[in-house]
Amino acid sequence: MSSALIIGDGPGGLSAALYLAKNEIQTTVFGQNETPMHYAMLYNYLGIPEMTGTEFQEVARQQITGFGANLVETQVKTVTKNDDGFSVMTSEDDHYSGKYLIIATGSSRELAESLGLKKGEEGAIAASREAETTVENLFVVGRTTRPHQVQAIISAGDGASAALLILSKEKKEGRRYCDWDEVPSDDN
Ligand SMILES: Cc1cc2nc3c(=O)[nH]c(=O)nc-3n(C[C@H](O)[C@H](O)[C@H](O)COP(=O)(O)OP(=O)(O)OC[C@H]3O[C@@H](n4cnc5c(N)ncnc54)[C@H](O)[C@@H]3O)c2cc1C
Repeated sequence: MSSALIIGDGPGGLSAALYLAKNEIQTTVFGQNETPMHYAMLYNYLGIPEMTGTEFQEVARQQITGFGANLVETQVKTVTKNDDGFSVMTSEDDHYSGKYLIIATGSSRELAESLGLKKGEEGAIAASREAETTVENLFVVGRTTRPHQVQAIISAGDGASAALLILSKEKKEGRRYCDWDEVPSDDN
């Protein structure tokens, strides 16, 4: 099974994790639950009339672990690219490897820069609309790439977009993957 590492546990990282874990990609998310979502009172997340950011994070964290994602409560210290993908080292000096890497570190951009990605306007790390970067299998999502559009639903959309590209590569040989579920029929 292919594996993906996600650095950052805000809406961007958790949304990517949801799509990947739900579709059988071995997924590890790093973060210490210190997202600014804990300051937010959400009235503008479509489908959720009203919720604190803290509740949102709790539900999202349960949702991804429910699909089998591994949530590691730590800070990532360094990240490197190698022939097989990416390796991260945590503040406890533990090492993890994965074929794909998604950086979703919010306003912290040092790890993305350490992989050679450049900062542009307002400090944004450059990525395509679908979260791809100039480095193969490396994606950057949410506030890290959009310092001018800091909204939870936009970060979550970016995370989904990066995950769909990974799923397209892994499951459809590059043809577009859609994560669609249907209402169960009455027969079942
Ligand atoms: C006061 C306030 C109110 C807000 N209200 C709203 C609102 O009503 N509606 C709305 O849509 N948005 C609101 N926001 C904005 C919202 O919080 C952001 O849009 C959202 O958090 C961005 O998500 P993200 O995943 O891109 O980044 P973040 O949520 O910033 O997540 C990044 C995560 O990565 C972690 N991280 C960073 N570096 C590392 C590392 N080296 N190793 C491991 N983890 C790392 C961080 O600790 C953090 O948890 C508000 C923000 C604030 C400050």
